[in-house]
Amino acid sequence: MKGKCQRESGWAYYCGMCMLCFAKSSAWSSRRGFLLASAAAAATPALAQVDVGKPEAIRKLVPAEALENSAAQQYAKVISDARAKNVLRSEGDPQLARLHAIARKLIPFATQWNPRAAQWRWQVNLIASKQINAWCMPGGKIAFYTGILDQLKLTDDEAAMIMGHEMAHALREHARERLAKSQATNIGLRLGAQLLGLGNAGDAAANIGTQLLTLKFSRSDESEADLVGLEIAARGAYLPDASVSLWKKMTAASGGSGGPAFLSTHPSGPQRIQQLQANVPKVKALYDKARRV
Ligand SMILES: [Zn+2]
Repeated sequence: MKGKCQRESGWAYYCGMCMLCFAKSSAWSSRRGFLLASAAAAATPALAQVDVGKPEAIRKLVPAEALENSAAQQYAKVISDARAKNVLRSEGDPQLARLHAIARKLIPFATQWNPRAAQWRWQVNLIASKQINAWCMPGGKIAFYTGILDQLKLTDDEAAMIMGHEMAHALREHARERLAKSQATNIGLRLGAQLLGLGNAGDAAANIGTQLLTLKFSRSDESEADLVGLEIAARGAYLPDASVSLWKKMTAASGGSGGPAFLSTHPSGPQRIQQLQANVPKVKALYDKARRV
């Protein structure tokens, strides 16, 4: 997947794949891109089958572009550290190939939820670690840990639900919202200064990037990510019922010896499963349609 923009941006050294390049060069036609972008601009909620309302306006206190730049820097650091420790799975790894195949099917549906995603350079990497963990930073920077795939023995459908969930956090800009709520003026001002080329921009970016790795989302953010992720995965032809089996596996793992990273931020109680069960029928038609294509 040696996309053109990878070479231009210098990402080839540490990224598994630039999904935007792939989408543009294959499944993505310019007409389809136009239609999706138009639909996103016109009526995002009307297209959606799940009901999550509008993103919170307070997030606008933090400039999206600056946050995405900070995330890209932090992501690059995580990936290069993983490579230095020899725990970064490389092209040709079958588990990484699985994740890339899933991402290729989900990414075309991202812009419906956030028009900014049309410009994101999606990346997906896999880190060898026992941790049950996966995340997506602002701007579409995804990481999976082998622990979540291996310990939960995820099917492709279940892995797609995790990826959809993590993508949804980025698309709904939950990190941006959290940062805005926690340190609105401070971060907003510093990122604003960074955009204008004022102040100690490097420090601000590094500081915010570090926070991205430890952010905890609210219960309502989690609920939104579950539903938006469910819909994206269904549109990508992944079985909606897998969202339920996934969280049942999570519940089972939370009583075991699995790394707590994901589970501590993603409580897998009955409420979560009930909400997913109630929403599975809403996206069934999308799944059926995607399967016929
Ligand atoms: Zn989450």
